[in-house]
Amino acid sequence: MLTTRPRGTADILPGQVEKWQYIEEVAARVCREYGYREIRTPIFEHTELFVRGVGESTDIVEKEMYTFQDRGQRSITLRPEGTASVVRAYLENKLYAGPLPVKTYYIGPMFRYDRPQAGRYRQFHQFGIEVFGARQPAMDAEVMALAMDFYGRLGLDDLELHINSLGCPACRNVVRERLQQFFRPVLGELCPNCQGRYERNPLRILDCKSNRCTELALEAPTTADCLCPRCREHFEQVQQYMRDLDIPYVLDKRLVRGLDYYTHTAFEIMAPGIGAQSSVGGGGRYDGLVEACGGPPTPGIGFALGLERILLALEKRGKLPVVQAGPEVFLVAVGDRAYRESFSLLARLRAAGIAADMDYQGRSPKAQMKYAGKLGVRYAVIMGEEELQRGSVVLRDMAAGSQRDIPVGEVIGALK
Ligand code: AMP
Repeated sequence: MLTTRPRGTADILPGQVEKWQYIEEVAARVCREYGYREIRTPIFEHTELFVRGVGESTDIVEKEMYTFQDRGQRSITLRPEGTASVVRAYLENKLYAGPLPVKTYYIGPMFRYDRPQAGRYRQFHQFGIEVFGARQPAMDAEVMALAMDFYGRLGLDDLELHINSLGCPACRNVVRERLQQFFRPVLGELCPNCQGRYERNPLRILDCKSNRCTELALEAPTTADCLCPRCREHFEQVQQYMRDLDIPYVLDKRLVRGLDYYTHTAFEIMAPGIGAQSSVGGGGRYDGLVEACGGPPTPGIGFALGLERILLALEKRGKLPVVQAGPEVFLVAVGDRAYRESFSLLARLRAAGIAADMDYQGRSPKAQMKYAGKLGVRYAVIMGEEELQRGSVVLRDMAAGSQRDIPVGEVIGALK
């Protein structure tokens, strides 16, 4: 127990963390260019927020939350997703009093008690955005465009964007009734899960992965068939903007998304070839959520992209850049006096912005060189008694194997 991590979690070690930093930097850059600003909310919130904000009948709330009582007897939950927290922060900090829309993004860990497998973990990371106060269909298009732009910059250009419209609450009522009508004669044949969904949220039956339910749902009415004229118009405009931007998409009438609060545009992005968990991201509009959380009626829209799956997709496609993460320069010291001099030189190199390191194990000069080779540094700066006398060092180009003497005072200049 002491030396094993909990199931479904991962250590991101040096050597791997650089890949994460790379993805996070691309995300931050895209967001800046689109006018989104970072928001950081707590890792845990009052349980009630997620029950309300994610939806009581969702898988997340029904069976996946990490919920516990804290020492003050409050029910606390590790965030299973980001939207509810950002909505809470938006309301609590009255961000609606400023200019609209408010455009935010976040990157961080989420927690779900899921069955761990490739691409599915109990602690995983999402890059997400949330926008408040914009009702225009162009905003739906911008949000999807940002997601696809992000993937594209990483080199993932073979992803599939699936989109659908879930309509407004009135459309949802129509589709709910029509779905119940449709499934009533075969209710007994649905999986136990879907029999429960039939009353609470029949839309989710369309989302069921069991073979029999998929089969039974083949001819079922979909939200797209039940849109009112205004919702239809909104969705058509969204698609027009997507065509204007030349972003390919698949119209997927079965797409419903797992969370209860979506309205209008819903979308999901799939990466072929990363296994059963092929969804690398999803999102949509949630015009009723802010109000449901006790705020003023406010349109909202956002997405969440799974970073582990993006990494999987990048690895499968060989699209991860090789990053030089360790030091560039290693100081090799021969003898105590040279060691002391090198230690001061090390500080000067670092102050000049050069990533440098030296030995802290009392290694022999030969072992220091070997260690420098293992670190993969570009240069070794070798200092011994003789060099000390002359006030110079040996600068060795590790790849070329060539070296030359230079005065200590010129090391920084030469390395730069
Ligand atoms: P969701 O909030 O469920 O729509 O998830 C959005 C994205 O987060 C998914 O498309 C996945 O890429 C990722 N994701 C969701 N759940 C997990 C999980 N348990 N492990 C890893 N990634 C996940």
